[in-house]
Amino acid sequence: MFKEIRPLRLDKKETLIGGIKDYCTKNGIHSAVILTCIGSLDSLQLAELIEDHSRFGEVHKDYTGPLAILSAQGSVSTFEGKLIVHLHGVFSSYHEKKAFGSHVVEGVTMNTVEIFLGVLENPIKREMRPESGPPVLITA
Ligand SMILES: [Zn+2]
Repeated sequence: MFKEIRPLRLDKKETLIGGIKDYCTKNGIHSAVILTCIGSLDSLQLAELIEDHSRFGEVHKDYTGPLAILSAQGSVSTFEGKLIVHLHGVFSSYHEKKAFGSHVVEGVTMNTVEIFLGVLENPIKREMRPESGPPVLITA
């Protein structure tokens, strides 16, 4: 199933989704599972479910740090030849003293973020399904 498991570290001021995408692009990775992702962020933007509970992305909410990434996981796949990093996570805010989470739009690293990628042997792709909103993962 996994070709290999790769550790990845993002440093200060790197973007979370952009950094994962850059690493995958540089290393020729098109299909992977983001097994774990922990670290700290200066800022974060999440997409939250809208009222019909069927679509993400209509409501974006910004958070400012310091924030801890308590847990995050997702996938790296392709849609129409473009790399898609899909990440969901649970975060905590030093200022708000609470945990929260959702679909990650983007974040900026405060100190470091540690990620382990399980690179898949078989490619995974996404396609549009009108009833689903964003491109969905194709499964066997
Ligand atoms: Zn999502």
